[in-house]
Amino acid sequence: MLHPRSSLGSLLAFLFVVRIPAGFAETQCDCVDAYDIASRRAEVTAAIQAYENSIREWSRSTAPTAADEDQRRDFQEREIKPALEKARYLNATPASAVTGPDLIGRCTTENSSPSACMKESTDVHESVHMAQCTALGHRRWSSLEDYAREEIAAYHAELAWLREAYRRLRSECEFELAFDSTIHGYNVVSKSTAGARVSLRLDDSGHFEGNSVLDYRTVDTGPPRRTLGDPLLAALLTTQCKAPPYYTWEGSGMTQISVPRSALMWAQDPRTGNRHVFIELSLHVGETEEVLRFKDRKRCLPPVQEERGAFYSEAFYSDKPGKTIGGTRVVEFNDWYVPGSNGSFAEAELVIKGGAAGLGGPVSAMKSAEETRLVLTRK
Ligand SMILES: [Zn+2]
Repeated sequence: MLHPRSSLGSLLAFLFVVRIPAGFAETQCDCVDAYDIASRRAEVTAAIQAYENSIREWSRSTAPTAADEDQRRDFQEREIKPALEKARYLNATPASAVTGPDLIGRCTTENSSPSACMKESTDVHESVHMAQCTALGHRRWSSLEDYAREEIAAYHAELAWLREAYRRLRSECEFELAFDSTIHGYNVVSKSTAGARVSLRLDDSGHFEGNSVLDYRTVDTGPPRRTLGDPLLAALLTTQCKAPPYYTWEGSGMTQISVPRSALMWAQDPRTGNRHVFIELSLHVGETEEVLRFKDRKRCLPPVQEERGAFYSEAFYSDKPGKTIGGTRVVEFNDWYVPGSNGSFAEAELVIKGGAAGLGGPVSAMKSAEETRLVLTRK
């Protein structure tokens, strides 16, 4: 048995550690590539299907399917390329590589995939063509079917690699979203704070998702310290009543918060060609429950019945471009700093400056100020 401190022992241990995960230790694919991997997996599956369909059709017809270069290219353009393009995800990094003869007739692979991960994936595919090319030469297909079968084998090899790569990312990639939000009412004198930590994992289709609980607290910050909207009305209330009456929302509790179908992906600057991380994060906030109260300490005006409603959640959705995903209302955050500060993966913020709530003002405006911060951290 080797002494743990012997240099031979540590060298062997080092080699052992490095060599064990040989298939994946060197991979360049990381969490941001999961979207491309899932997209490529869909493309590859569609390609295999398209080749198999063609083989089935050829077996039923007597038309010649000689594999000359023109016919091969025509078949590729007409039958296979559209299937691949249809399956590719929106804005996914394209994968492209080709194996063929160089100027002096040697088999070579040219891989022009723009990301390291897609390059790896297509290298697996091209290695099948390379082995066939090296063994049998460039004109190794006597029919289109021969060619199609080689492509199916190449795509199957790539598919196995993609499935393994995705399985690994699915177990490794976990992010935590920290959500902190403050909203001040506009003509209601209240302040809401809401916060949550949401753990995000990969789903089966290259997207991140997660759900958690949002803690919220809406408090009365009155009496109002300034006037908004109609100055006459405010002046009237201030002089008529010794302490001006006002509306406020109050309430606290927990509601659902979720991140459905969000994506981390690569984007390319069309001007410089530089690639950067792009994040499309959808956030759903469940309904909060608060009570709208009329505060009139000096009993200057007739009393007003209190009302139940959702102040924080409605104010959060208001003035933000929103959409629904599977019937769930979401707000999209697509503007992120990557990397974020303090070692975080990314950061986004939404700041509406307005100051504290006041008195008066149009009823349609729900909030005078908002500060919502999202911090994404790799776990
Ligand atoms: Zn191929």
